[in-house]
Order: sequence, then structure tokens, then C-alpha cells
Amino acid sequence: MISTKLYLKRGKEESLRRRHLWVFSGAVARVVSEAPLREGDLVDVHTDEGAFIARGHYAGGSIAVRVLTFRDEPIDDTWWRNRLSAAFDLRRTLGLVGSDRTNCYRLVHGEGDSLSGLVIDVYGQTAILQCHSVGMYRARRQIAAALVEVSGGQIVAVYDKSSGTLPFKGGASPDDGYLIGTGEGAGEVVENGLRFRVDWVSGQKTGFFLDQRENRALVGRYSAGRRVLNTFCYTGGFSVYAWAGGAEEVVSVDSSERAVRLADANMQFNFGEEVPHMAAAEDAFDFLNEMERDKYDLIVLDPPAFAKHQRVVAQALQGYKKLNAKAIMKIRRGGILFTFSCSQAVSREQFRLAVFSAAAIAGRNVRILHQLSQPADHPINICHPESEYLKGLVLYVE
Ligand code: SAH
Repeated sequence: MISTKLYLKRGKEESLRRRHLWVFSGAVARVVSEAPLREGDLVDVHTDEGAFIARGHYAGGSIAVRVLTFRDEPIDDTWWRNRLSAAFDLRRTLGLVGSDRTNCYRLVHGEGDSLSGLVIDVYGQTAILQCHSVGMYRARRQIAAALVEVSGGQIVAVYDKSSGTLPFKGGASPDDGYLIGTGEGAGEVVENGLRFRVDWVSGQKTGFFLDQRENRALVGRYSAGRRVLNTFCYTGGFSVYAWAGGAEEVVSVDSSERAVRLADANMQFNFGEEVPHMAAAEDAFDFLNEMERDKYDLIVLDPPAFAKHQRVVAQALQGYKKLNAKAIMKIRRGGILFTFSCSQAVSREQFRLAVFSAAAIAGRNVRILHQLSQPADHPINICHPESEYLKGLVLYVE
């Protein structure tokens, strides 16, 4: 039984009726609770007239509640099993569960899987859980147990990596570690038949950028005979695909020393120690500034999110414009530029406009060959457009 009731201001239930998963603090009229309300508590959301409308985790910030269900049902072990089963069903539909060619994928993509505040990535038999809300964090053991249970033997270990993603910490002092099973904190995975070492303990995010899987495959398709420059390479995903696709030369750049070592290791892991791969630990802007023109005919620009908040969007767009202008200026005639933005706050149109301005600055003829997005294991909840974030353009530069 949930004793906490949160009443909305008149008319503020409209977005929930359209199944948006957040209740903003400004929509809340009053809270009725027997005990003091703690971040992460389960609460019931009621309209101003008293009708039940949703149940979710109290989040206590500008997002007051993250909705779990629009039904009056208990959030118990069965509920978690059902939600996680549904997530598995979708990935099974996508051919990602039990595949020999790809054994790493996103199992839960927050609102995209109607689990606001939760991300789960699967690497072989290990699942990495990242909680972005205290409510999810408090439920982590229940989630881990349900996950192993519904996986039908696919998942044997669950590692919690929430220390860096929890918003207010909610009085908790999170320590990362295995919730179920054990392991070495790293493993080997295959993606489209290519091999990668993933370190989920000390790597960025959950250790690997699964969201670029299909875009990496597209780079592979265009790489034959091309000289490829992969900037912001991290663990070298695009580089590995480019070489597998028949590139003449592959150069990887990342400002992190550790990242370029990982990129190098993944190249060797796939193609042997002799693979002619150059990896530079350098700022990508500086690298592009200093490099000669016409040196590369396929360039990848996959920077980290330049805008983490709405209020810095204008500045981020300047960053995208500057970066893309440099690459468009320097790429060889007939070159192909893969350019991305993973800033959720930057819209597809804004990004395209920034790249259009970059083309104008560079004074070159640019055509769009492909418009890219996030893969289907990062689904976009149609009622919750905030779950869409990755945008990419493939440009042909003359
Ligand atoms: N393309 C990668 C993911 C990129 S993540 C993949 O497919 O896996 C973004 C990367 O950009 C991080 O590795 C980070 O270290 C790097 N980075 C951030 N700022 C940078 C800069 N100014 N110059 C070069 N690399 C940078």
C-alpha cells in the first residue's frame, strides 16, 4: 500500500494522460504523506479532483515524479519481472538476444522502455546497471534479481555502476560493485562479428558506446580504399569497422591517453599486432587545425555531448559549427564525413542547421547521403520525445 499521495494542480494531468513519464514540480499542488517524503519513495499521483492517474518514484527535483505505471498496480517482484521481460522481448525481436555476431546491446533505455531513470547494458553474460534516479537505485537489488530470473540463463552477473549517474545521492553513498555474481570488471564482446574489450568498471558510461553499432557498420561499408580519420575515437569502434571494411589507412584521435590505448588494443585484438594503426592522444580541434588538407577521405566526428542542458544549446551549436567547418574544409574532394551529436538538448533541425552553416563557412558543396539516429535497442518512446538524443549526418563533400 502506498500512503503518499501527490495532488496535481487543476489541468496539470494532461501530459500524463498522453503518457508522458515525468511530473514537473510546478504541476504539484500538494503532497499528503503520513511520513516525511524521501527521494525515491513510491508515490501515487492524483488529479486535483482526487482521481488516481499514475504511480512512480518521487524524484524531488524539477522532475517531481518519474512515472512507473499508469495503472493502480503494485510495484513488486512480478511487476519488475514483467517490465524486464518486455525489454528482453523487444531485443529478441531485434535479433540481439542469443546472437553469435552481436552479444552486447542495451536492454533498458530509460523512458524508451518505460523505466524512467534506469539504463541496463548487456555485455555477454554480464549486465551493467546505471541508475539515474534514487528510486531506481533503491530498487536495484530487486531489479537485478528479476533481471537474472527472466533472462533464461543469458545473464549471470549484474554490476551496478550508479555512483556517477545518481542525481542527488538521496542520502545514499553509492558504491559500484556486483549485485549478483562476480567477474573481473571487464570482458570481451562481439559486435557484428568484430571483437572489443570492454571495461565497465573504469570505462566511460557503461564501458562501450553501444548506440553507434549501426553507424559503425555504415562506416565499414564506405571505408574500402579510403584514408580514414576517426576523431573522438574512444575505444576505437569506428576504426575497427573501417579497417574491417578495407580502409587504406586508419588514424584515431582522442584527447584521452587511455582511450587511444584502448583503440589501439582493439585494433590489434581484431587484426593482429602488425595492423598499421596510428593513434594520437590529442585534442580533436587542434588535430583538425594542424592537419594538412586532402589527407583523409573519410572523417568521423563523434564528440561528447556539447550541450548537457537547454541553457547551453547556443554555445554547443557554435562548437558543432566550428568542428564541422574544420572537417569540411580539410576533407579530400569526394570525401565522406560522418558527423554526430549526442546532445539530447540539441534538436535534429538545430544540428543540421549548424552543419549547414559549417558547409557555408568552408565554402564547399555538401550533400546529405544519410540521416542517422540511435539504434532500435535505444528505442524512442513516442509519448516521451526526450528519449531521442543521437543524430548523425553522412555528408558527401565536393
Ligand atoms: N566514437 C566513440 C565514442 C565517443 S565518446 C565510439 O564509437 O565508441 C567521446 C570521446 O571524445 C571520449 O572518448 C572523450 O575522451 C573524447 N573527447 C572529449 N573531448 C575531446 C576533444 N576535445 N578532443 C578529442 N577527444 C575528446
